[in-house]
Amino acid sequence: MKITMAHGSGGRATSGLIENIFKKANSNPVLDAMEDSAVVDGDNKIAITTDSFVVTPLFYSGGDIGRLSVCGTVNDLLMRGAVPKYITSAYIIEEGADTEVLERIAVSMSKTAKEANVCLVCGDTKVIEGSGGIYINTTGVGFVKDGTDIKSSNCKAGDKIIVSGNMGDHHAAVLSHRMGIKNSIKSDNAPLNEMVLGMLENKIRIHALRDITRGGLGTVLNELSRSSDKCFLINEADIPVSDEVKSFSQILGLNIMHMGNEGKLVAVVDAEDADIALSVIRNSKYGEDAKIIGTVTEGNGVIMNTKIGGRRVVLELIGEGLPRIC
Ligand code: MG
Repeated sequence: MKITMAHGSGGRATSGLIENIFKKANSNPVLDAMEDSAVVDGDNKIAITTDSFVVTPLFYSGGDIGRLSVCGTVNDLLMRGAVPKYITSAYIIEEGADTEVLERIAVSMSKTAKEANVCLVCGDTKVIEGSGGIYINTTGVGFVKDGTDIKSSNCKAGDKIIVSGNMGDHHAAVLSHRMGIKNSIKSDNAPLNEMVLGMLENKIRIHALRDITRGGLGTVLNELSRSSDKCFLINEADIPVSDEVKSFSQILGLNIMHMGNEGKLVAVVDAEDADIALSVIRNSKYGEDAKIIGTVTEGNGVIMNTKIGGRRVVLELIGEGLPRIC
Protein backbone atom coordinates (compact mmCIF):
# COMPACT_ATOMS: atom_id res chain seq x y z
CA MET A 1 0.00 0.00 0.00
CA LYS A 2 1.17 3.54 -0.74
CA ILE A 3 1.11 6.37 1.76
CA THR A 4 -1.42 9.06 0.86
CA MET A 5 -2.03 12.49 2.37
CA ALA A 6 -4.96 10.88 4.28
CA HIS A 7 -2.40 8.94 6.36
CA GLY A 8 -1.30 12.28 7.78
CA SER A 9 -4.78 13.67 8.43
CA GLY A 10 -4.98 12.62 12.06
CA GLY A 11 -8.12 10.63 11.25
CA ARG A 12 -8.81 6.97 10.73
CA ALA A 13 -6.06 6.42 8.15
CA THR A 14 -3.51 7.85 10.60
CA SER A 15 -4.61 5.61 13.45
CA GLY A 16 -4.55 2.65 11.05
CA LEU A 17 -0.97 3.47 10.14
CA ILE A 18 0.03 3.72 13.79
CA GLU A 19 -1.81 0.51 14.76
CA ASN A 20 -0.62 -1.60 11.85
CA ILE A 21 2.97 -0.45 11.57
CA PHE A 22 4.38 1.47 14.50
CA LYS A 23 2.51 -0.18 17.37
CA LYS A 24 3.05 -3.59 15.82
CA ALA A 25 6.79 -3.01 15.59
CA ASN A 26 7.16 -1.35 18.99
CA SER A 27 5.00 -2.21 21.92
CA ASN A 28 5.63 -1.40 25.60
CA PRO A 29 3.46 -0.09 28.45
CA VAL A 30 4.57 3.55 28.06
CA LEU A 31 3.95 3.63 24.32
CA ASP A 32 0.77 1.56 24.44
CA ALA A 33 -0.83 4.02 26.85
CA MET A 34 -1.07 6.39 23.83
CA GLU A 35 -0.98 9.51 26.01
CA ASP A 36 0.12 12.96 24.84
CA SER A 37 3.50 12.58 26.53
CA ALA A 38 5.45 9.76 28.11
CA VAL A 39 5.97 9.88 31.87
CA VAL A 40 8.95 7.76 32.86
CA ASP A 41 11.27 7.12 35.79
CA GLY A 42 14.39 9.25 36.08
CA ASP A 43 17.70 9.24 37.86
CA ASN A 44 20.49 11.68 38.71
CA LYS A 45 21.93 13.79 35.89
CA ILE A 46 20.14 13.56 32.55
CA ALA A 47 21.78 13.56 29.11
CA ILE A 48 19.57 14.56 26.16
CA THR A 49 20.37 14.57 22.46
CA THR A 50 18.45 14.82 19.21
CA ASP A 51 19.28 14.02 15.60
CA SER A 52 17.49 13.84 12.25
CA PHE A 53 18.20 11.15 9.68
CA VAL A 54 17.84 11.76 5.96
CA VAL A 55 20.12 9.02 4.61
CA THR A 56 19.68 7.92 1.04
CA PRO A 57 19.23 5.10 0.13
CA LEU A 58 16.92 4.03 3.00
CA PHE A 59 18.46 0.53 2.90
CA TYR A 60 22.15 -0.11 2.26
CA SER A 61 24.54 -2.96 2.86
CA GLY A 62 24.69 -3.58 6.61
CA GLY A 63 21.88 -1.28 7.67
CA ASP A 64 18.97 1.05 7.07
CA ILE A 65 17.59 4.39 8.24
CA GLY A 66 15.74 2.71 11.16
CA ARG A 67 18.87 1.15 12.63
CA LEU A 68 20.86 4.31 11.94
CA SER A 69 18.34 6.57 13.68
CA VAL A 70 18.68 4.58 16.90
CA CYS A 71 22.48 4.12 16.75
CA GLY A 72 23.23 7.78 16.02
CA THR A 73 21.26 9.03 19.00
CA VAL A 74 22.26 6.26 21.43
CA ASN A 75 25.94 6.78 20.56
CA ASP A 76 25.71 10.53 21.19
CA LEU A 77 24.37 9.80 24.72
CA LEU A 78 27.16 7.28 25.33
CA MET A 79 29.80 9.83 24.29
CA ARG A 80 29.05 11.75 27.51
CA GLY A 81 29.23 8.59 29.60
CA ALA A 82 25.44 8.44 29.91
CA VAL A 83 23.60 5.14 30.11
CA PRO A 84 21.01 5.38 27.29
CA LYS A 85 17.49 4.78 28.54
CA TYR A 86 14.71 6.30 26.41
CA ILE A 87 14.28 7.20 22.77
CA THR A 88 11.56 8.94 20.76
CA SER A 89 10.91 8.73 17.03
CA ALA A 90 9.29 11.24 14.69
CA TYR A 91 8.71 10.19 11.09
CA ILE A 92 8.24 12.61 8.24
CA ILE A 93 6.85 10.56 5.38
CA GLU A 94 6.38 11.75 1.83
CA GLU A 95 3.22 10.81 0.01
CA GLY A 96 3.81 7.72 -2.12
CA ALA A 97 6.07 5.93 0.36
CA ASP A 98 5.43 2.22 0.61
CA THR A 99 3.84 0.93 3.83
CA GLU A 100 5.94 -2.26 3.54
CA VAL A 101 9.08 -0.16 3.48
CA LEU A 102 7.84 1.76 6.50
CA GLU A 103 7.18 -1.50 8.29
CA ARG A 104 10.69 -2.82 7.62
CA ILE A 105 12.15 0.42 8.96
CA ALA A 106 9.96 0.38 12.09
CA VAL A 107 10.88 -3.25 12.81
CA SER A 108 14.59 -2.53 12.30
CA MET A 109 14.31 0.42 14.67
CA SER A 110 12.64 -1.75 17.28
CA LYS A 111 15.32 -4.46 17.01
CA THR A 112 18.12 -1.91 17.30
CA ALA A 113 16.45 -0.24 20.30
CA LYS A 114 16.38 -3.64 22.03
CA GLU A 115 20.03 -4.21 21.24
CA ALA A 116 20.92 -0.74 22.58
CA ASN A 117 18.77 -1.28 25.66
CA VAL A 118 16.65 1.82 25.12
CA CYS A 119 12.89 2.00 25.42
CA LEU A 120 10.98 3.77 22.64
CA VAL A 121 8.56 5.88 24.67
CA CYS A 122 6.82 8.18 22.19
CA GLY A 123 6.62 8.97 18.53
CA ASP A 124 4.94 11.00 15.82
CA THR A 125 4.17 10.69 12.12
CA LYS A 126 3.56 13.45 9.61
CA VAL A 127 2.78 13.00 5.93
CA ILE A 128 3.79 15.65 3.42
CA GLU A 129 3.63 16.02 -0.37
CA GLY A 130 6.60 14.54 -2.15
CA SER A 131 7.83 11.43 -3.85
CA GLY A 132 8.03 8.67 -1.28
CA GLY A 133 10.93 9.85 0.90
CA ILE A 134 11.16 8.94 4.60
CA TYR A 135 12.97 10.99 7.26
CA ILE A 136 13.28 10.23 10.95
CA ASN A 137 14.11 12.35 13.97
CA THR A 138 15.02 10.65 17.22
CA THR A 139 15.62 12.14 20.64
CA GLY A 140 17.44 10.16 23.30
CA VAL A 141 17.59 10.42 27.07
CA GLY A 142 20.20 8.79 29.26
CA PHE A 143 21.45 9.03 32.82
CA VAL A 144 24.92 10.06 33.91
CA LYS A 145 26.30 8.51 37.08
CA ASP A 146 27.83 10.73 39.77
CA GLY A 147 31.51 11.28 39.16
CA THR A 148 31.33 10.73 35.39
CA ASP A 149 32.68 13.76 33.59
CA ILE A 150 33.51 13.09 29.96
CA LYS A 151 33.98 16.08 27.68
CA SER A 152 36.39 17.18 24.98
CA SER A 153 37.95 19.99 27.03
CA ASN A 154 39.22 17.34 29.49
CA CYS A 155 41.94 15.99 27.14
CA LYS A 156 45.41 16.31 28.69
CA ALA A 157 48.94 16.13 27.29
CA GLY A 158 50.08 12.50 27.61
CA ASP A 159 46.62 11.00 27.04
CA LYS A 160 46.36 8.14 24.56
CA ILE A 161 44.05 8.27 21.55
CA ILE A 162 42.15 5.07 20.75
CA VAL A 163 39.89 4.41 17.77
CA SER A 164 37.46 1.51 18.12
CA GLY A 165 37.77 0.01 14.65
CA ASN A 166 38.09 0.40 10.89
CA MET A 167 37.48 3.80 9.36
CA GLY A 168 35.17 4.65 6.49
CA ASP A 169 32.87 1.60 6.36
CA HIS A 170 29.53 3.44 6.50
CA HIS A 171 30.64 6.08 4.00
CA ALA A 172 31.94 3.44 1.56
CA ALA A 173 28.82 1.24 1.92
CA VAL A 174 26.40 4.11 1.23
CA LEU A 175 28.48 5.43 -1.66
CA SER A 176 28.86 1.94 -3.21
CA HIS A 177 25.10 1.55 -3.16
CA ARG A 178 24.52 4.93 -4.78
CA MET A 179 27.10 4.30 -7.48
CA GLY A 180 25.89 0.74 -8.12
CA ILE A 181 29.32 -0.69 -7.25
CA LYS A 182 29.20 -4.33 -6.14
CA ASN A 183 31.53 -5.19 -3.25
CA SER A 184 31.30 -6.74 0.21
CA ILE A 185 31.66 -3.49 2.18
CA LYS A 186 29.06 -3.22 4.94
CA SER A 187 28.05 -0.19 6.99
CA ASP A 188 29.30 -0.26 10.57
CA ASN A 189 26.13 1.32 12.00
CA ALA A 190 25.97 -0.04 15.53
CA PRO A 191 25.19 1.00 19.09
CA LEU A 192 28.39 1.24 21.14
CA ASN A 193 26.92 0.55 24.59
CA GLU A 194 29.09 -2.45 25.38
CA MET A 195 32.46 -0.78 24.84
CA VAL A 196 31.57 2.50 26.57
CA LEU A 197 29.77 1.00 29.55
CA GLY A 198 32.57 -1.59 29.79
CA MET A 199 35.17 1.16 30.09
CA LEU A 200 33.09 2.92 32.75
CA GLU A 201 32.68 -0.33 34.71
CA ASN A 202 36.43 -0.87 34.56
CA LYS A 203 36.95 2.64 35.95
CA ILE A 204 38.98 3.73 32.93
CA ARG A 205 39.86 7.41 33.26
CA ILE A 206 38.11 8.47 30.05
CA HIS A 207 38.71 12.14 29.34
CA ALA A 208 36.78 12.47 26.09
CA LEU A 209 34.70 10.36 23.72
CA ARG A 210 33.40 11.18 20.25
CA ASP A 211 31.63 9.01 17.75
CA ILE A 212 33.31 9.29 14.37
CA THR A 213 30.46 10.27 12.04
CA ARG A 214 30.16 12.89 9.27
CA GLY A 215 33.50 14.53 8.53
CA GLY A 216 35.42 11.45 9.67
CA LEU A 217 38.31 10.98 12.09
CA GLY A 218 40.18 14.05 10.82
CA THR A 219 37.28 16.34 11.66
CA VAL A 220 36.62 14.76 15.08
CA LEU A 221 40.29 15.05 16.11
CA ASN A 222 40.37 18.70 15.05
CA GLU A 223 37.27 19.39 17.15
CA LEU A 224 38.88 17.69 20.16
CA SER A 225 42.09 19.63 19.59
CA ARG A 226 40.22 22.94 19.48
CA SER A 227 38.14 22.38 22.59
CA SER A 228 41.07 21.13 24.67
CA ASP A 229 43.72 23.44 23.17
CA LYS A 230 46.06 20.48 22.71
CA CYS A 231 47.83 18.83 19.81
CA PHE A 232 46.66 15.42 18.61
CA LEU A 233 49.67 13.50 17.30
CA ILE A 234 48.72 10.35 15.40
CA ASN A 235 50.45 7.64 13.39
CA GLU A 236 49.15 6.92 9.92
CA ALA A 237 50.33 3.29 10.12
CA ASP A 238 48.13 2.67 13.18
CA ILE A 239 44.85 3.93 11.70
CA PRO A 240 42.71 0.85 11.16
CA VAL A 241 41.08 0.48 7.76
CA SER A 242 39.97 -2.67 5.96
CA ASP A 243 41.75 -3.58 2.71
CA GLU A 244 38.53 -3.28 0.77
CA VAL A 245 37.66 0.21 2.04
CA LYS A 246 41.28 1.26 1.51
CA SER A 247 41.23 0.28 -2.17
CA PHE A 248 37.74 1.73 -2.59
CA SER A 249 38.95 5.08 -1.22
CA GLN A 250 42.08 5.03 -3.38
CA ILE A 251 40.16 4.31 -6.58
CA LEU A 252 37.71 7.15 -5.89
CA GLY A 253 40.31 9.54 -4.48
CA LEU A 254 38.64 9.76 -1.06
CA ASN A 255 40.58 10.71 2.06
CA ILE A 256 40.09 8.01 4.69
CA MET A 257 40.50 10.70 7.39
CA HIS A 258 37.31 12.36 6.15
CA MET A 259 35.13 9.32 5.56
CA GLY A 260 32.18 8.88 7.93
CA ASN A 261 31.34 5.94 10.16
CA GLU A 262 28.27 5.20 12.24
CA GLY A 263 29.59 2.72 14.76
CA LYS A 264 33.07 3.86 15.69
CA LEU A 265 34.40 6.11 18.39
CA VAL A 266 37.56 7.85 19.42
CA ALA A 267 38.41 7.59 23.12
CA VAL A 268 40.96 9.86 24.78
CA VAL A 269 42.08 8.15 27.97
CA ASP A 270 44.69 8.58 30.70
CA ALA A 271 47.93 6.99 29.45
CA GLU A 272 48.09 4.61 32.44
CA ASP A 273 44.68 3.18 31.55
CA ALA A 274 45.23 2.95 27.79
CA ASP A 275 46.08 -0.76 27.60
CA ILE A 276 43.10 -1.82 29.72
CA ALA A 277 40.82 0.50 27.77
CA LEU A 278 42.05 -1.03 24.52
CA SER A 279 41.41 -4.56 25.72
CA VAL A 280 37.93 -3.66 27.01
CA ILE A 281 37.07 -2.19 23.61
CA ARG A 282 38.61 -5.09 21.69
CA ASN A 283 36.64 -7.61 23.76
CA SER A 284 33.37 -5.77 23.21
CA LYS A 285 30.91 -6.19 20.37
CA TYR A 286 32.01 -4.01 17.39
CA GLY A 287 35.45 -3.25 18.89
CA GLU A 288 37.70 -6.09 17.71
CA ASP A 289 39.79 -3.88 15.38
CA ALA A 290 40.44 -1.12 17.94
CA LYS A 291 43.88 0.49 18.03
CA ILE A 292 45.84 3.11 19.90
CA ILE A 293 46.62 5.63 17.17
CA GLY A 294 48.51 8.36 18.98
CA THR A 295 49.07 10.70 21.89
CA VAL A 296 47.83 14.09 23.01
CA THR A 297 50.65 16.63 23.37
CA GLU A 298 51.04 20.31 24.18
CA GLY A 299 50.42 22.52 21.16
CA ASN A 300 47.52 22.51 18.77
CA GLY A 301 46.13 20.99 15.62
CA VAL A 302 46.26 17.42 14.37
CA ILE A 303 49.61 16.11 13.17
CA MET A 304 50.15 12.79 11.47
CA ASN A 305 53.39 10.81 11.31
CA THR A 306 53.10 9.42 7.80
CA LYS A 307 54.00 5.90 6.71
CA ILE A 308 56.94 7.21 4.70
CA GLY A 309 58.47 8.94 7.69
CA GLY A 310 57.21 12.49 7.19
CA ARG A 311 54.81 14.63 9.14
CA ARG A 312 51.74 16.38 7.89
CA VAL A 313 48.92 18.45 9.27
CA VAL A 314 45.48 16.80 9.15
CA LEU A 315 42.74 19.31 8.48
CA GLU A 316 39.08 18.92 9.20
CA LEU A 317 36.79 18.29 6.26
CA ILE A 318 36.35 21.56 4.43
CA GLY A 319 33.34 22.10 2.20
CA GLU A 320 30.97 19.37 1.25
CA GLY A 321 31.53 15.72 2.08
CA LEU A 322 29.16 13.05 0.93
CA PRO A 323 25.67 14.49 1.47
CA ARG A 324 22.83 12.52 3.08
CA ILE A 325 25.09 9.90 4.61
CA CYS A 326 23.09 9.96 7.87
MG1 MG B 1 28.41 12.62 17.89
